[in-house]
Amino acid sequence: MIIDGKKEAEIIRKELQEEILNLKSKINKTPSLTVILIGDYAPSQIYVKNKEKSAKEVGINSEVIKYPKNVSEEEILKKINELNKNKNVSGILVQLPLPDQINKEKIINAIHPSKDVDGFNPVNVGNLSSGYKSIVPCTPLGCLLLIKKIEPNLTGKHAVIIGRSNLNGKPMAQLLLKENCTVTIVHSKSKNLKNECLKADILVAAVGVPNLVKKDWVKNDVIVIDVGINKIGEKIVGDVNFEEVKNKTKAITPVPGGVGPMTIACLLKNTLECFKAHQL
Ligand code: NAP
Repeated sequence: MIIDGKKEAEIIRKELQEEILNLKSKINKTPSLTVILIGDYAPSQIYVKNKEKSAKEVGINSEVIKYPKNVSEEEILKKINELNKNKNVSGILVQLPLPDQINKEKIINAIHPSKDVDGFNPVNVGNLSSGYKSIVPCTPLGCLLLIKKIEPNLTGKHAVIIGRSNLNGKPMAQLLLKENCTVTIVHSKSKNLKNECLKADILVAAVGVPNLVKKDWVKNDVIVIDVGINKIGEKIVGDVNFEEVKNKTKAITPVPGGVGPMTIACLLKNTLECFKAHQL
């Protein structure tokens, strides 16, 4: 089975749109997302445009504040502080990567945890790893929703995650632990990657190496979630060799059209959660 991330994301967006309309009729307020975009890095421009468009479609007010590449860290921190205090702003997102003069850690720490729609602030990271309620990073949240569509009860399943980034691998592991999976994380220094992957009932690849996972790395009936987005010439491919692996799986996400659309849908979901936490 090929998992249709576009379709699943569309379902989430419809639900969000309805809930936002409902809330508007009850409290006459609408969630809002402010995105800070620094510099002219082309992929960031595209991501932010897509986020803005998707937010507007579900009824979230969206504002993009743009700064030139040489903006100072101080100016960004001042703006974040202002947005933290602004009651009309439900969620704040600073688009990564940042130029060299700006310290990513300081920026992430500055966003108030209750407005941290990316779920990167250490308070949210800590809450997630303690198993408490938290804002969860959008991509792993999207992956979990796709996995649970296929397998609602994950108790006792062996999940293997390739990649240990703060963005993907680590929060994915926390989410799957919370679902009672046995979790293995492998990374660039791991030995016997193939043997570890062969243990997986659920395999999540978040690496950034095209076609890394081959047919003989997976057992039959595995659920494969491919987070990778890699460009080979004009073609976008994942971290999993889709054509080779797909017939062995219970379900697999394609690239593109798998995890990607879920990431944006979960950003909108997080924005609504932040809004509700402030308003209700
Ligand atoms: P990252 O920060 O570069 O982390 C990559 C991880 O993979 C690291 O933990 C690294 O190990 C590990 N790794 C690298 N080469 C490896 C190898 N040969 N064998 C085993 N592990 C290896 O990347 P990321 O931000 O998590 O992103 C991963 C991929 O997901 C990228 O392709 C990115 O474009 C994509 N992505 C997609 C979405 C989406 O919405 N679909 C969202 C975000 C990212 P070390 O820790 O040892 O270096």
